[in-house]
Amino acid sequence: MEKTKFQINKKEPEIHVNKPPERSFWQRQGPFNVWYFVIMLLFLYMFQSAMEVKREEIPYSQFMGYLQSGQIAECIIKENMIAGTLKLMDQKTGKPRRFITVRLRDDQLAKALAEKGVKYSAAVESHFLSNLIFSWIIPFAIIFLLWGYLGKKMGGMGMNFMNIGKNKAHIHAETDHNITFEDVAGADEAKQELQEVIEFLRNPDRFQRLGGRMPKGVLLAGPPGTGKTLLARAVSGEAGAPFFNISGSDFIEMFVGVGAARVRDLFEQARKKAPCIIFIDELDAIGRQRGGPVVMGGHDEREQTLNQLLVEMDGFDSSNGVVVLSATNRPEVLDKALLRPGRFDRQIVVDKPDLRGRVEILKIHTKDLTMAPDVDLEIVARRTPGFVGADLANVANEAAILAARKGRDAVTTQDFEAAIDRVIAGPEKKKSTLSPEEKHRVSYHESGHALVAELVPGGEPVHKVSIIPRGIGALGYTLQVPEKEKFLATRNELLDQIAVLLGGRVAEEVVFGDVSTGAQNDLERSSELARSMVCSYGMSEQLGALTFGKKQASLFLSTEYGEEKNYSEETARQIDAEVREIVQESYERVRILLKDNRPVLDALAARLEEKEVLSGEEVKAVVEKG
Ligand code: ADP
Ligand code: MG
Ligand code: ZN
Repeated sequence: MEKTKFQINKKEPEIHVNKPPERSFWQRQGPFNVWYFVIMLLFLYMFQSAMEVKREEIPYSQFMGYLQSGQIAECIIKENMIAGTLKLMDQKTGKPRRFITVRLRDDQLAKALAEKGVKYSAAVESHFLSNLIFSWIIPFAIIFLLWGYLGKKMGGMGMNFMNIGKNKAHIHAETDHNITFEDVAGADEAKQELQEVIEFLRNPDRFQRLGGRMPKGVLLAGPPGTGKTLLARAVSGEAGAPFFNISGSDFIEMFVGVGAARVRDLFEQARKKAPCIIFIDELDAIGRQRGGPVVMGGHDEREQTLNQLLVEMDGFDSSNGVVVLSATNRPEVLDKALLRPGRFDRQIVVDKPDLRGRVEILKIHTKDLTMAPDVDLEIVARRTPGFVGADLANVANEAAILAARKGRDAVTTQDFEAAIDRVIAGPEKKKSTLSPEEKHRVSYHESGHALVAELVPGGEPVHKVSIIPRGIGALGYTLQVPEKEKFLATRNELLDQIAVLLGGRVAEEVVFGDVSTGAQNDLERSSELARSMVCSYGMSEQLGALTFGKKQASLFLSTEYGEEKNYSEETARQIDAEVREIVQESYERVRILLKDNRPVLDALAARLEEKEVLSGEEVKAVVEKG
């Protein structure tokens, strides 16, 4: 089933650049004016031709006849024709008759005209108007119209031709201040540090008189979804100051130079509205280190934009009351120049919330929900270590959706449990696609994990075991929840973790004498853990307290990390051997453990196969009985 996403929480701020609908010159004028102009010119031309047509067209011989009989009053000799008036009057209009005739090469003509006393003159025929219309105005009109049309079409994609170099985003100051610090929970340190910025924005003059050092650039750094954008908005709300919000990626344009122009414009507008906040979200999009290899074009553009940003930040003095806030998930890739004094010299870390923070965040996001009395947000928070604010908002939302779908009038603990599972593992598959044999095997596999977790001293308590397939790749899962937040792990605890990860595979081997592909992710994680023990934590007896390999940001894919190999081939072999040994020893250990406790394993697997989901207490009950 697809994930329905609807907003329960009305206060969820929209995070995007505030752009008014863009209108190019042509859209504003409408193409009408151009047509009007063209049509007028055409009429003019036709009118002129019509005037000429009104003259009587006569053969040259007749013209000569008129000339000989002295009936021509005057004439104009043009390149290809002769036009003139006769002495005869037109019957209808009473005016002299006008004629036109083709001009032949006739050297005697001038003499004849002079003899007969005809006033004559020569004129170079003017093609000016028709030339103008046909070779210039019409093609241009067509090009312009096409241009305007394309511009309109592409305007939405940020490629409006008519607006190159102009500030597309028409960066508007936002002034509705309905987000305050009350909407942000669990970021007390960040809030405290931002307090000064707020003081300053509220009253720049007084702040200055008291000798406070003016904050100029503040960088919020932290994992995605921790509420950086929210905090920035809250600062503006608290200070009651306008908020210019633009995302780093908005600066990056197809056309070189536009980004830089936009930065200039942004600061110019902000200065007019001071005191105010400029918020540059996703600063890393423009602020990545300069001077790398050119990746797929667009590189120069980014550098120019970044340079302009540096120039602007140096150029303004914070006494005019502009504070630049920015946010990034990846402070490590930022150009060092951005972090120098006078730029983003104040950095505030917005970290993942701890248990208390999670409770507070859940409170905010369940404020508008009707909750059953049995719901304890503390327990929900306990079950969600590592969740950031955005995840928790999602949990609250999903729980409400589930409750609504089940027709309940209050959100229950069960809904929260299901919502957490959903957020962790993606939506439940509607029907189980496991065959009975597979189900049997998966029961043993998951029981293996759960039993080892219960038996080893450093195993975190099992919260839930399930063999209901979820999302892609996960046929079942065992969920462990730490009793308390942990920031350190000892060597033995890590070995126990590896044992728990191997529990599934070993159980399959012990029971069925054969293994399956279902343990791939477990093995990946246990190998990784063992490798980290050797390479990062210095926990190998043989290799000692050294670290191996240096992580570095890849130059090509900014989200990937490469590893610089700073050790010899010989050491590499030793590392591999050590990793293998850790895993193999753990494997042996688990095998013995499970063989010794085979009856418990059987009991647990049978119960799981029957019920599909077991809670932590149920697992404990089975283990203790066995
Ligand atoms: P970031 O910018 O750090 O990626 P956001 O500010 O965009 O994160 O957060 C996304 C959403 O998650 C917010 O709109 C809010 O609903 C929720 N959220 C994140 N952190 C918090 C928090 N500390 N308190 C309350 N809600 C939060
Ligand atoms: Mg954000
Ligand atoms: Zn497993």
